[in-house]
Amino acid sequence: ANMTRKFFVCGNWKMNGSKKSIGELIQLLNQAKLDPSVEVVCAAPTIYLDMTRSKLDPKFGMAAQNCYIFPSGGFTGEISPAMIKDCDINWVILGHSTRRHIFGESNELIGKKIAHAQENSLGVIVCIGETLDEKERGITDEVIFAQTKAIADNVKDWSKVVIAYEAGWAIGTGKSATPQHVQNIHEKVREWLKTNVSEPVANSVRIIYGGSVRGDSCRELATQKDIDGFIVGKGSLKPEFVDIVNARA
Ligand code: PGA
Repeated sequence: ANMTRKFFVCGNWKMNGSKKSIGELIQLLNQAKLDPSVEVVCAAPTIYLDMTRSKLDPKFGMAAQNCYIFPSGGFTGEISPAMIKDCDINWVILGHSTRRHIFGESNELIGKKIAHAQENSLGVIVCIGETLDEKERGITDEVIFAQTKAIADNVKDWSKVVIAYEAGWAIGTGKSATPQHVQNIHEKVREWLKTNVSEPVANSVRIIYGGSVRGDSCRELATQKDIDGFIVGKGSLKPEFVDIVNARA
């Protein structure tokens, strides 16, 4: 963490929850004592976005988990940035590893989504990261730089971008990547941004980590200088999320 970049924690609920369980989670979050210096964003499943926004304390930001590349039209099952904004949701997660690897989203499509979300002034939390196979083949740097380039080619307003590095091989396993591994990758991404975008952007953009962040693993991760927060899956559905938000408290 670095004091000039606001710590950012995103709870990614993925395809989990019901009206009942989400109602309970909202209650827990609304009553929690949270470090006020942290920006907290909750990403609810699409169908619960509107309900969650109406019940969740306004101090929490909210994110959609995906969007499409046009404002409206014959795209069954998709949602647009305009609709997301219309529901008072100010962020969208793009390029999550589940979108890339289960739904086959390419860097090119993710780039178009970023560009369209930015046209609508929606903040984007864009995920990058290598799979286990890519890690074992020794091509982690190549993969993450290509993903970062696809982001940079489509961003106009860097103040509305958070980059989330996810160690694909740590997601949902209960075992996060080591603080040293994550710090090393984040530093490389920041260096890439400095060379290919600008030094002010490299210094100001928040790079957060995802992959089995837990109440106990978050503290050491949060002490690394280039880790500016977390994207949390499983841990975001339980009281433990509060400990993760308060990792530096
Ligand atoms: P996890 O998910 O915390 O359940 O590993 C993280 C993510 O998908 O970013």
